[in-house]
Amino acid sequence: MAQINQPMYILRDDTERFQGNQALRMNIFASQLLASIVRTTLGPKGMDKMLVDKKMGDVVVTNDGATILQEMDIAHPAAKMLVEIARKQENVVGDGTTTVVIIAGELLKKAMELYEDGIAIPTILLGYRLAVTKAMDILFSISTDARDPDTLFGIAKTAMTGKGSDYAKDELAELLVQAALKVEEGEKLDKTLIKIHRINGGSVEDSMIVDGIYIDQGRANESMPEEMRDAKIALMKYPLELKDLDNAKVDFTDPLQMQAFLDNEQETLKEIADKIIDSGCNVLFCQKGIDDVVQHHLSKAGIMAFKRVKNTDVKRIMKATGAELITNIEDLTPDVLGKAGYIHQEKVFDQILTFIEECEDPKASSILIRGSTRHVSSEIERAMEDALGVVAATVEDGKVVYGGGAPEIEIARQLKAYANTISGREQVAVNAFADALEIVPRTLSENAGLNTIDLLVELRAAHEDNINMGLDVFEGKVVDMKEAGVVEPQRVKKQAIQAAQEACEMILRIDDLVAAAGALQKVDPDENLDHSGMPPAPGMGGMPGGMPPMM
Ligand code: ADP
Ligand code: MG
Repeated sequence: MAQINQPMYILRDDTERFQGNQALRMNIFASQLLASIVRTTLGPKGMDKMLVDKKMGDVVVTNDGATILQEMDIAHPAAKMLVEIARKQENVVGDGTTTVVIIAGELLKKAMELYEDGIAIPTILLGYRLAVTKAMDILFSISTDARDPDTLFGIAKTAMTGKGSDYAKDELAELLVQAALKVEEGEKLDKTLIKIHRINGGSVEDSMIVDGIYIDQGRANESMPEEMRDAKIALMKYPLELKDLDNAKVDFTDPLQMQAFLDNEQETLKEIADKIIDSGCNVLFCQKGIDDVVQHHLSKAGIMAFKRVKNTDVKRIMKATGAELITNIEDLTPDVLGKAGYIHQEKVFDQILTFIEECEDPKASSILIRGSTRHVSSEIERAMEDALGVVAATVEDGKVVYGGGAPEIEIARQLKAYANTISGREQVAVNAFADALEIVPRTLSENAGLNTIDLLVELRAAHEDNINMGLDVFEGKVVDMKEAGVVEPQRVKKQAIQAAQEACEMILRIDDLVAAAGALQKVDPDENLDHSGMPPAPGMGGMPGGMPPMM
């Protein structure tokens, strides 16, 4: 190779680079800092966060891990990986987003301790991999088969505990279970068929389920019926008015001519109305306008009609009622009509809504959420979406575990027994993995201000006899979570533990962090003084000022 006598630069000299040990410490520090931010929200006694958007000054008050992480503008790459696993958790199950982040943070913290004690990273990684495989076996063995309505109710309720919806969780959980049972098709539940909509105004207790669909408009004319039983529905994209007459210029030479013209017009409109009446429909949804004269004839015939119905609503009406959309009035025959048991118009707070209910095979269900303000109703909407996720997961998998830290303690306990069967240094890593899982009950207890050390000892001891023993955070006692009705889908735990391990592995494997200038916003290391033996973290960009307490 030719001799190079000059220094060679392959990175711009303003690039930041951290290698080996330094990169590892920095990444772990960043991840833990992030985990420490969300951990105070875990569980029924978790606190909320208020997040303010920099540009718009929008305020979000939430307890939802995924939302917090999404709203925070995270800059550090390792911290971003945790944001990513929270998002994935949200997509896969819709719940457990805080759990996955704090487990990942704890796995990393334990890994760092082992590393400082002289255990090589590959050994730690191997131990963690053995541990996660075993943890899944244990999780499957301690899960219960259940997908009955009572279990679904418990699942929905548990997911909503400690959220904005807490005080009305019984009613809301009931709504969700009803919606789920309607839409469920053999062990499948398509979450998108259940719409969760919110109306600001009113109280949470007024939230309700719409079995079928609703549109946000009322009937065309006050003299039409406000409700219809055994509705036969015509759906058309055809103007029920005479086109362009407003702007047309008609010259009459004789008053009789004028009268004849008007009569003729009336006649044509009456013919249109008659065609609709003759089809046998009693409800009409029209995507176009309806002339006053036609409206008059329709209401005389007792038909409930809606004009200028939105395209999206038309699609939903077709889906729910089986009505065919016709574009020519000549095609309006009895066989294109759809059906619904009950259609009625209601005033909900300040909105007029029309509900299309009791459809034969609705394939759709909607829940209307009420809340006094936008902040309240959107936090409830988020909690309901989490709950819908866990209900759907349970319908599909039919596997549940009892929560309150019970599964984490049990998996930790059995993992430790397993660790004893492993020779070599991986044993220490498996043990560390087990300890890391206990972060869940520990955090539940800390957030409730309980005596954590004593309770954890008691919990572990209680598991000798009963694997469902968990923390009653309200009473500060160790109780049977099955009896307490605290139940979660197996999928939440499976995804949380696996994803936490994967993120941890990815972060631990990094030994070089190369960042373009400015990509890592510097923070003042003095401000982030080290309380935990961790190095100050250069590059913790985007974090709120000061440092939250370390785990
Ligand atoms: P995540 O975002 O991870 O779902 P949550 O704030 O929803 O976080 O808290 C979930 C944890 O709270 C789970 O470990 C669950 O078992 C626990 N939990 C929920 N309800 C209760 C309860 N009534 N008693 C004890 N623990 C509970
Ligand atoms: Mg939750």
